[in-house]
Amino acid sequence: MRIPFVDLKVHFDRHSQDLQEGIARVLHKQQFILGEELAFFEKEFGEYLDVEYCYGVASGTDALIIALLALGIGVGDEVIVPANSFIASALAVSEVGAKPVLVDVDPKTYLIDPEQMESLVTSRTKAVMPVHLYGLPCDMDQIMVVANKHKLFVVEDACQAHGASFLGRKAGSIGHVAAFSFYPTKNLGAFGDGGAVCTNSATVAQRVRRLRNYGQDSKYHHDFRGRNSRLDEIQAAILRVNLRCLDEENDRRASIMTQYRRRLSHLEFQFVPKSCLPSNHLCVVQVDRRDDVLCELGKAGVDAQIHYPIPIHLQKCYEHLGHHLGEFPVSESLSKRIISLPLYGNMVDAQVEYVINAVLKATAPDSPIVVKPLDKKKFSEQ
Ligand SMILES: *Cc1c(COP(=O)(O)O)cnc(C)c1O
Repeated sequence: MRIPFVDLKVHFDRHSQDLQEGIARVLHKQQFILGEELAFFEKEFGEYLDVEYCYGVASGTDALIIALLALGIGVGDEVIVPANSFIASALAVSEVGAKPVLVDVDPKTYLIDPEQMESLVTSRTKAVMPVHLYGLPCDMDQIMVVANKHKLFVVEDACQAHGASFLGRKAGSIGHVAAFSFYPTKNLGAFGDGGAVCTNSATVAQRVRRLRNYGQDSKYHHDFRGRNSRLDEIQAAILRVNLRCLDEENDRRASIMTQYRRRLSHLEFQFVPKSCLPSNHLCVVQVDRRDDVLCELGKAGVDAQIHYPIPIHLQKCYEHLGHHLGEFPVSESLSKRIISLPLYGNMVDAQVEYVINAVLKATAPDSPIVVKPLDKKKFSEQ
């Protein structure tokens, strides 16, 4: 058997009629940008999250950039970002001209540590960026308390957390503004790039709406320089179908995770606090002898991956920040020990079972040398 890391084809086969109808609707209508499908999707996703405003943009990275721009963050400002994240979290901060100030993560949740985060606040800090990594929401209560105390904005990177919640509120609805990605393999994915910016602030919303569309409010009137970053109609039509499957697929992810956690209890998983309902974007576990384990899994046909093998502070593109090896021990240790197991919303039981058995075998302690018992009689005869 071969178990891919994700398999989007099953989802497509199950929903192909609705998906193709959605695409056909756009083709017949011949409106490709900023039309009805996007308006409906923004309304539906906004309602799903329980946020006032939701705007589709071209990618998750653009969503972060536009969120930061809308808050007026730029040159000379600092934004605190966890060192254990996908690179795009930091890239967005750099892109607007601000400085990403990296911080280590909590050894149990693998998420931004609010206490260390607070210790890095300076007079230049304008915002913090909690990343709900692997689909586990950060402790938003603690983060909002620190942010309010120091008058900072909170930009949620919810690119892995579609449908996750913290104390009953959806990830992406709690901070001042949030970014989602609809990259095809995310819990809610398009058939290409896509993203969204969500907020409850009318002021931020109005800026986001213009920033994604050349900075214009009415055609050819530009109050400020904006970008071209829209979620197109075909992607919006696809996302409307996929949004209707999100809860069901997230439930399936949760039940697969329950099996993984139960059967692989000798491995260390991300700790889920009682306040959190994760979206289970990735199943990340720590293993000893990682190279061997990955090799064994590969031989068994199980495609495991690493998220992420190099923490942001050790990336070449951030050399100029002057960080050094050993500076963020938790992120560094995780980057050497973690693997992500196959997990997706349409994975069947037989595949889960196969992965579990392959992992059990690959992580079993070395078997001791066993020699047949010596026959005492034969021994004395010699
Ligand atoms: C995917 C992702 C992004 C970027 O989204 P794109 O749509 O690929 O630009 C940003 N942050 C995190 C945590 C992500 O997982």
